[in-house]
Amino acid sequence: MKVFKFGGASVNSADAVRNMAQIVQSHLESEALVVVVSAMGKTTNLLEKLVPGVLETGERRQELRRTLEDYHRGIASALMPDNMDVQRKMNALLAGLDHLCATLPTDAGHYNYNYDQVVSFGELLSTTIIADYLNSLGINTLWTDARQLIITDNHYREGRVDWDATAARLAALRQRFTGQIVLTQGFIGATPETSTTTLGREGSDYSAAILAYCLGAESVTIWKDVPGFLNADPKFFSDTVKIAQMPYNEAIELAYYGASVIHPKTVKPLQNKGIPLYIRSFLTPEAEGSVIGNHHTISPETPLYIFRDNQILLSIAPRDYSFIAEDNLQVIFGLLNDLGIRVNMMQNSALSFSICVDNQPHLVSRLVEQLKSMFRVRYNENLQLVTIRYYNQAVIDRIVAGRPILLEQRSRVTEQLIVPTV
Ligand code: ASP
Ligand code: MG
Repeated sequence: MKVFKFGGASVNSADAVRNMAQIVQSHLESEALVVVVSAMGKTTNLLEKLVPGVLETGERRQELRRTLEDYHRGIASALMPDNMDVQRKMNALLAGLDHLCATLPTDAGHYNYNYDQVVSFGELLSTTIIADYLNSLGINTLWTDARQLIITDNHYREGRVDWDATAARLAALRQRFTGQIVLTQGFIGATPETSTTTLGREGSDYSAAILAYCLGAESVTIWKDVPGFLNADPKFFSDTVKIAQMPYNEAIELAYYGASVIHPKTVKPLQNKGIPLYIRSFLTPEAEGSVIGNHHTISPETPLYIFRDNQILLSIAPRDYSFIAEDNLQVIFGLLNDLGIRVNMMQNSALSFSICVDNQPHLVSRLVEQLKSMFRVRYNENLQLVTIRYYNQAVIDRIVAGRPILLEQRSRVTEQLIVPTV
């Protein structure tokens, strides 16, 4: 059994869905294929604005709601002009969405819960259309509600998986399934009490890994718009190198430093069962792509770059000129933890403590406000945090390109530096 995952960009138009279906068709085997699909295109971003309480004006809401409907109906009717059944299924989904939007409580305390109830419709719509389309091509496809497969706690917007319950649901599915394809939604799950939850933005990769782990799948393939795992985001680099093979631990490290190719939680469950993760391009599906698995080193050996823009560097010094000591650090980390701010890099010196964080203005201003009673706080904005694995001096010089380095840390394989954004 294999698991395929298709992200939003791979199903963002009727042509994209046709291409996706062709890929699926060319991989049908005697064993069932489990296909995990995200919301179409940028639908999740749109749905985030429809969560009750987010938009003040009804007019903008209606406009977005219409865009959502027109977009999905357009794709469905381009793929299946005569299929009234799929339009009826969409009617039911859209009516369900409208009912929720009209009845959910709008107070801030319910935001996370509301978010999951509303945003999950992106994946429900995409899979409803795609399942009917695959069946119309004669591919025996079972549309399956991921909320009956992936069981989580009630930590809305970041549901934590109940692995035993999920494994039991999947074992039952496996027993009864005889078709060619199980098609299900990425990103969504449910509590044991059947409240919809989500696994965090871009969580469909993680869904694929959860299913693969619980089913003991042979492999997972993520179909993307890049030819594989590249040594840098092509947004930043024109001459990227494809990493054909990568050890699991390397992929985990890269996700930790901020590489966005795969969702950070995806690799660990696959590593635990030794299931290889393939990254391939839906634009050139015959090409080989990359594989993350039980390898000792990356191949080819080349420096790997991760860029994080929009960073802010805070330098924190005690007002009473005492050294920055454990008691001070405890206060600082307590505040960071309370505000849910993640530290991307930190450095301690005799008189101050520096932290680099994503510049989320509302959170950072609250942090600075609270620190000010005990500390002097200075900050630099518009910075870039660059992480280079397998660095050498020549590549560091190339990246720095004459910019002043505000902070630098080097270990045997990893160089990190903070420079002004160009
Ligand atoms: N549709 C969700 C998102 O855009 C999940 C995913 O694409 O992986 O975040
Ligand atoms: Mg998406």
